[in-house]
Order: sequence, then structure tokens, then C-alpha cells
Amino acid sequence: MKTKFNHSELFAILLTVALAVTGCKSSHQSCCMMPGCMDGAAAVSAVQTKDSQAAMTPAQALAELKAGNARFVAGKPLHRDFPAQVAATAGGQYPFAVVLSCLDSRQPIEIVLDQGVGDIFSARVAGNVLDDDILGSMEFACKVSGAKLIAVIGHSNCGAIKGAIDDVELGNLTGLLAKIKPAMDAVPADAQPRTTKNYAFVNAVSEANVRLVMQQIRERSPILREMLDKGEISLVGGMYDLKTGKVQLYEP
Ligand SMILES: [Zn+2]
Repeated sequence: MKTKFNHSELFAILLTVALAVTGCKSSHQSCCMMPGCMDGAAAVSAVQTKDSQAAMTPAQALAELKAGNARFVAGKPLHRDFPAQVAATAGGQYPFAVVLSCLDSRQPIEIVLDQGVGDIFSARVAGNVLDDDILGSMEFACKVSGAKLIAVIGHSNCGAIKGAIDDVELGNLTGLLAKIKPAMDAVPADAQPRTTKNYAFVNAVSEANVRLVMQQIRERSPILREMLDKGEISLVGGMYDLKTGKVQLYEP
């Protein structure tokens, strides 16, 4: 029997023992990338390619976002080998969707939609408002890079929406919140009281804001409008619930 081990052999033995003692399942995501882990499925190292992106329809792109959020809510995200995905995407990117969502730290969009490196373009700004730069980014994502779906995802109890309702004025934030105010007018007058203390009203304004941004995308970008009309891409809105982690995606 071999009684002497070199450094790397010793490390592998110690790691195997440590994993056996501590229990692999408690930190599956990190431990299964280590040698010695006995716990199940191989990590996902595949990424979107030109072929896989081209083969995907707008409906399939939407279905994948829904499936990803279902995995997130269930606490069963795909086990990804991120270093391998980084290496595989270094030469090019073929994301299947572009998502506009809020700056809010509680809505980290790749995580809540369970997407990996190179899967989606992500634009984030307080209140998920639209401006020319984000619109240009969406045109790049779809017309140049081949994304099949634009998703605008607001969220419950949004601070930017509340700021607009409260008429907050602060430096450059004032101009950003002004973009949200038309959404307040789009909420029916019987939604009372129209204050930030009314959780339902705040969320109704968030939803109206998502729908207005969707409308603006169509109106302000002839490039995207043409792609939408031809069925080359799809446009969907949705709301993320801070309490449950669920994204409710509306049908296009
Ligand atoms: Zn927000």
C-alpha cells in the first residue's frame, strides 16, 4: 500500500474527507465544482450559440424565462459551471432575450430568471424607465445580436414608483421620476387613496408603467416595431413580486 502522497494527492484526500464529514448537499453549488464531490448532476457548462439562438422562437424565449423563474422560486436553479461558461462565451455572445428591469437590489434579474453567462442582455435603471440609450441598446440586442424577446419587468413596492407618487425632487432623480408620472394618470380614478400608503395603488402604477414603456418601445423604435410586426421578436411585460420571488409575465 502506498504510504506517501504528494501535495495534490494529499489535498484531494483531505477534500474528500472534509466533504464527507460536512455533507455536500448543504453547499451543493460550490462544492460540486470541486474534485471529490459525490453529489449528483454535472454542472451546466453549455452556453447559447449562434445556432441555438437562431433555432429559438420568441415563444420559446418567453417559455425559458418562465421556466427559469419557476426554478428560482422552487429553490432549484440550474447548477452552472460559471468559469466554463465564461470561457465558452469569451469569443462571442448570442443571448436570446433583452430584459429591462429596475435597479432594485432585490430584483437581480439573471438570478430571479435563473439565467447563466451569455443568456440574456440586462438593462437596469430605477423604475425600469425608457430612454434613448436603453432603446438603442434594445435595437442592438435584437437587430444586431439576434435576441428574440424584449421583456420589461417592474416589481412590487418599487421605490422609484413611490418617489414619483410622492413628488420627490432630488438632483437628476427628478427627471427620472418625471418619466413615471404618466403611469399614475393611467391608473383609473377609483383607485383610492392615491398615495404610497396604498400598496395596491403603488403596484397598479408599476404595472401601468410597464405597459407604457412597452408602448413607448413600439412607438419610438421603427426598427423594433418592424421586427415585432414581422414576428421576428416578441415584446412582453411582467411584474416581480418581492414577497414571493415570482415573476408574472404577461402574454404578448
Ligand atoms: Zn424599483
